[in-house]
Amino acid sequence: MKLISDPGKFIAITEKAGKLKKNIGFVPTMGALHAGHFSLIKQARKENDIVVVSIFVNPAQFGQGEDFKKYPRSFKQDTGFCRKLGVDFVFLPDKDNMYPQGYSTFVSVEPLSGLLCGHSRPGHFRGVATVVAKLLNIVLPDTLYLGQKDAQQAIIISRMVKDLNFPVKVKVMPTVRQEDGLALSSRNAYLSKDQRSVALVLYKALRLAQCMVNNGQRNAARIISRMKQLIEKNKLARIDYIAIVEQEQLKEVKKIIPGTLIALAVKIGRTRLIDNIIIEHI
Ligand code: AMP
Repeated sequence: MKLISDPGKFIAITEKAGKLKKNIGFVPTMGALHAGHFSLIKQARKENDIVVVSIFVNPAQFGQGEDFKKYPRSFKQDTGFCRKLGVDFVFLPDKDNMYPQGYSTFVSVEPLSGLLCGHSRPGHFRGVATVVAKLLNIVLPDTLYLGQKDAQQAIIISRMVKDLNFPVKVKVMPTVRQEDGLALSSRNAYLSKDQRSVALVLYKALRLAQCMVNNGQRNAARIISRMKQLIEKNKLARIDYIAIVEQEQLKEVKKIIPGTLIALAVKIGRTRLIDNIIIEHI
């Protein structure tokens, strides 16, 4: 396994892989790797000759007052995990070679970026789309692996790939959860023991929604109202949003149909957590 931090060097490697007709699977991450990331890496390993993982805590996707500085960084442990999982290349750029002096180009996917998480995190998805566009141009993967945990991110990146003709296939892998249902997230590390048990309310609210649908409820407003009630029972939990939307434009729907996305963001203390489910069958 090779560690590379210089984008120029990485491009030389990917060009060589292209000439040798080796296909590349790519998993972009911000590090602090956990089983959610592992599932993406394992899938990439199964399906490609070369597996690339990037680890970059991207400053462009953090707003003022957000957790860029305290975001967990565990590069040594992460590269150890990557080695065990059979990764070929870990790309570890730093902010100066990703955004050198004079850097001026940003990718904005509108209006998707301003909805749901975009409301409370203005500029976040612009930062995400920009860094992923740059990474795609550096790594030149055949397949890009993303997690369903970040549903809006996956929708925005898929839109960007389509709109800007990036020659890459996007594969979205299911959300990996802890045994009790909490979605794995690097930000779970911020939670105290008490907050960790309160955090389960995101999953409980989604389960309640799924249960209501299973029992024949199709009215989105009624489902949102019950989810709200459930979450608001916890004094430590503050709802950012609960949204029931279609997956193309993230437009609110009144009636649940197969493919409807139910997504929410909740603050537990200072930690903002997100989760979602897709209603598959009705
Ligand atoms: P991050 O390091 O949080 O930027 O995430 C890197 C990739 O891993 C993104 O595509 C995420 O959606 C994905 N990911 C993060 N957590 C999970 C999870 N619990 N299950 C599946 N994928 C995940």
